[in-house]
Amino acid sequence: MNEISRILVKNTISIRNAFELLDESASTILLLTDDSGCLIRTITDGDIRRLLLSGKLLTDDLSSLNQKPPLVVKEDQSIKEILLLMDSEEVNQIPIVNCENKPIGLHLRHELQPKILLSKPHMGENERHFVEEAFQSNWIAPLGPNVDAFETDLAAYVNSGYAAALSSGTAAIHLALNLLGVSYGDTVICSSFTFVASANPILYQGAVPIFIDSEPESWNMSPIALEKCLNDCQRNGIKPKAIIVVHLYGQSADMDLIVDLSKRFNVPIVEDAAESLGAKYKGRDTGTFGKFGIFSFNGNKIITTSGGGMLISHDKKMIEKARYLSTQAREPAPHYEHTEIGFNYRMSNVLAGIGRGQLEVLDDRVRAKRHLFDRYVDKLKEIECIEWMPEPEWSYSNRWLTTLCIKPHKGGITPSGLIEKLSFFNIEARHLWKPMHQQPLFSKAQYYPHSNISVSDRLFDTGLCLPSASNMTEEQQERVIFHLKKILS
Ligand SMILES: *Cc1c(COP(=O)(O)O)cnc(C)c1O
Repeated sequence: MNEISRILVKNTISIRNAFELLDESASTILLLTDDSGCLIRTITDGDIRRLLLSGKLLTDDLSSLNQKPPLVVKEDQSIKEILLLMDSEEVNQIPIVNCENKPIGLHLRHELQPKILLSKPHMGENERHFVEEAFQSNWIAPLGPNVDAFETDLAAYVNSGYAAALSSGTAAIHLALNLLGVSYGDTVICSSFTFVASANPILYQGAVPIFIDSEPESWNMSPIALEKCLNDCQRNGIKPKAIIVVHLYGQSADMDLIVDLSKRFNVPIVEDAAESLGAKYKGRDTGTFGKFGIFSFNGNKIITTSGGGMLISHDKKMIEKARYLSTQAREPAPHYEHTEIGFNYRMSNVLAGIGRGQLEVLDDRVRAKRHLFDRYVDKLKEIECIEWMPEPEWSYSNRWLTTLCIKPHKGGITPSGLIEKLSFFNIEARHLWKPMHQQPLFSKAQYYPHSNISVSDRLFDTGLCLPSASNMTEEQQERVIFHLKKILS
């Protein structure tokens, strides 16, 4: 219940004062009472604007507002009832009145009902234990037993051979490009439909990106567009230094075709599997098809170390070199000796402790995410305008985020409209990634669409992500489903 003395007003106050009160208060309504203190109505910003539009002046009072029986609740009403009322009346606050109809408090939705987030950290049982070990042994410095164990465990999990634990997924992509010798003026091919972190490291190296569209089957890199691009490069005497393939939203790209092209044109692959740890292509883990794979343990990813990344490869020498470059490229010498540019990119032993615990529950997280997705699909199957992210038969997605597109329909609601409506009910939804070729940062970059239709542009225009936290409760998901049904049908 909230203190309401600051939002109680009589109709003798001026419109200007009413505006000021609304501005200062955390609530978006005022409570209009009569001389005996009984509630007459609530006043919103819109109500006052309408007074002005009808010709009233800022110095006029509120007496011309009509009576409008307010929505109220009594003190003993349950939170569940109050929330149901808020949902059915589409409001976020309801005054509480006593038996004499005098306001005594205000319920705010965001206090009764925590925001439902897109994705959030979800700890298992053993993270604390590994972190505690780091404290007890005073291995708080970077490097240490947790880092070694996290690398070994992760490499074993994805059957990759070797892994280097780093400070972020972005750092892992940067080192991969560095190790492939990408330098100033080189060309690097990259998925367009992705988060900017996939492409920024191309610029760190002073190289030039070419962006490739998605295919409709997986929403990931189109092998057709990639082939066109590689042919054009060959014709123009350009030898790209790398292909960065992204496995977006936890789904693999069509790797057989992409690996074939990589071999035919002799351009190595870096797999950005930041979002796809635990996902598979024909039974094999994403991240293990290319020369390098990278994972991210940022706070919103399927498992997290609060911030971190991993570079993996079947090439032992390359991973050893990555470890060397990520610790300032220090040469083995009794003093500090350097011959190459290094980076401070290593993961700390404390964070690697969190990672070890998280890796133990990764399979559970994948199952939970897939279950969330299945439940959305099942409960919303009558809504014809929804097109879910497909899962080709060769893909086992980790369903990191549940994503969908809205097909043209009668209601005509856009993703922005839907995101705004859900946000009103304290539910977070987001647009799909805005393709890199549309970003001002890359306005000069070349782009290869899948066909005469650009798939990633269509996905961005019509798509969105729904709350998909593996620790979201069933009741919370039901709330999201309830509002989606109401808005879309
Ligand atoms: C999160 C993410 C990254 C970057 O990972 P960080 O650990 O945040 O640096 C790279 N690519 C994609 C597709 C991502 O989603």
